[in-house]
Amino acid sequence: MSISLERINKSFGNFQALNDISLEIGDGQLVGLLGPSGSGKTTLLRIIAGLESADGGRILFQGEDVTGQHVRERRVGFVFQHYALFRHMTVAQNIAFGLDVLPRKQRPAAAEIRRRVGELLEMVQLAHLAERYPSQLSGGQKQRIALARALAMQPRILLLDEPFGALDAKVRKDLRRWLRNLHDELNFTSVFVTHDQEEALELSDQVVVMSAGRIEQVDRPQALYAKPDSRFVFDFLGHVNVFAGALDGREVRQGEGWVRLPEPAGAGGEVQLYLRPHEVRLQLHAVEHAHLPLQVEAINLIGAEVRLELRPCGWQADELWEIGITHAEYNAWQPQRGDRCYAVPDVGHLFEARGGQPRT
Ligand code: ATP
Repeated sequence: MSISLERINKSFGNFQALNDISLEIGDGQLVGLLGPSGSGKTTLLRIIAGLESADGGRILFQGEDVTGQHVRERRVGFVFQHYALFRHMTVAQNIAFGLDVLPRKQRPAAAEIRRRVGELLEMVQLAHLAERYPSQLSGGQKQRIALARALAMQPRILLLDEPFGALDAKVRKDLRRWLRNLHDELNFTSVFVTHDQEEALELSDQVVVMSAGRIEQVDRPQALYAKPDSRFVFDFLGHVNVFAGALDGREVRQGEGWVRLPEPAGAGGEVQLYLRPHEVRLQLHAVEHAHLPLQVEAINLIGAEVRLELRPCGWQADELWEIGITHAEYNAWQPQRGDRCYAVPDVGHLFEARGGQPRT
């Protein structure tokens, strides 16, 4: 079931929470709404569900206008961050409750409900817990039950608001993989809200990046990471090392630091060169196309690579630079705090200092 949002606006009093949102979500897609706190993700999800009404704009499910439809008529499944299971009901009863949201005439008979609950319990691999109460379940189990309950009425669309937000890192990762598999198997259309970049990039077919009530960019995860349209998106998707300077021909200069770009980048002006930690190498000597001296501030040995924090020397940056080196490189170099080295950019992403537009 595809979803089309056309020019959705929403204000709470004087505050405009959503500003002219238009978005196409293809049938069977798993789409992540990603953005900082307060960017309007939950509000948009609630408007798709029909739990909140928009001030203007239209919502279409598979071409059908559902803007005026009540939440029950829309037949969407909803999963919240905090499980929202009933404490006095068993797991099986909680799942069966998912069918109560259907209009009375569409509710199946008792035997059919039992059959469907059994099927859902198998699907979320928790059949052995059918008679337990929510207080006897782990967080991850509760969330799988919440999902089974949302799927009970065979929704056309599944909406999830920070579904794994309350769980610890390991359980989150397992549940993510599990949701992805379930989604691929059942082929429903899903939209989920998250403020976790990794979660959005790992789980989604398309990521919608939101900021201050607007859509910043919509793209496949890889494209979004490799080619962000704006500095905001770049920044939001992970750590960046920034070299700000004046562009003169092919060179960006600031203080004693400079970088020669592989190609001319248009007229001069103030620019910012953005580099992901893996897009910069470290060397003990400056190279021909860059002079970016750094001093080692901190060494983090935990993880697949050694992450160094570095302070610019003779030029300035708002934040320390972070660059990863392999454990083999670390062992060969044995860097100490205070050591001097040079950053060697492999690729760079150039943005205007003002406005944050990309320079191409
Ligand atoms: P978070 O990640 O913190 O949940 P979000 O991106 O989901 O944030 P929303 O919950 O959609 O953001 O809220 C967007 C803005 O609208 C926020 O500034 C919030 O304070 C405001 N807002 C949301 N609901 C209401 C409401 N019922 N009344 C007034 N303001 C609201």
